[in-house]
Amino acid sequence: MTNPMGLAKKLKGMIMISKKMHSDRNAIPFPVSLKHLLSEVDVSSAFLTSLKLLYDEMDRKYQQAASYYGFVCNGCEDNCCRSQFYHHTLVEYLYLHKGFRTLPEKMRQETMDRARDVYQRLASETEKPALIMCPLNENGRCILYLYRPMICRLHGIPHELRKPGTWVQHHPGCKAFHDRLKSLPYFRFDRTPFYLKLAYLEKTFRDKIGNTERIRLTVAEMLLV
Ligand code: SF4
Repeated sequence: MTNPMGLAKKLKGMIMISKKMHSDRNAIPFPVSLKHLLSEVDVSSAFLTSLKLLYDEMDRKYQQAASYYGFVCNGCEDNCCRSQFYHHTLVEYLYLHKGFRTLPEKMRQETMDRARDVYQRLASETEKPALIMCPLNENGRCILYLYRPMICRLHGIPHELRKPGTWVQHHPGCKAFHDRLKSLPYFRFDRTPFYLKLAYLEKTFRDKIGNTERIRLTVAEMLLV
């Protein structure tokens, strides 16, 4: 097991490198691998086990709501895997890589090629975020479905968020949901407990390794960093 303080120091350095690259989007991405650093973390740690349990909880709640609506996410023209969501937690980053390591070598190589391509296409976009397929999507399916981040799990159905000191915010479902099912009464789906639990887990992990740097990465970047 890696010394947490040593890991924290290296992690801080790696994130600074990552930030520099983000400020120069046309540079050849990621000359140093954060994966190498993070491979030193024991992937079977309690943090990743806790994250898996939290993901299971999200999946159960999502399935309840989806069943109520009769909503099945079965690929659509407006595929949310083209949305380039940003992810902000190191525990999710680690968990995604835990899954990535289970893929056959050839599939990993192909995925990394796609990730580089996505990164470079995004770097060349000057206006609104482009709709570019996530490198983990192969033939319409997520090849790391069991390891996909929180936002991928919760997307699609209408939900609410309760930020302290504000009104409850209601958000509609995705376009496919809206087109087919918008007339159905709302099934209460509150994302707040999931966000809070993930934030707490992340904070506990960061406290352990002594790191508070913010990260904001697409899936392509999570693979490349
Ligand atoms: S990680 Fe999987 S579910 Fe999420 S955007 Fe990529 S392909 Fe889609």
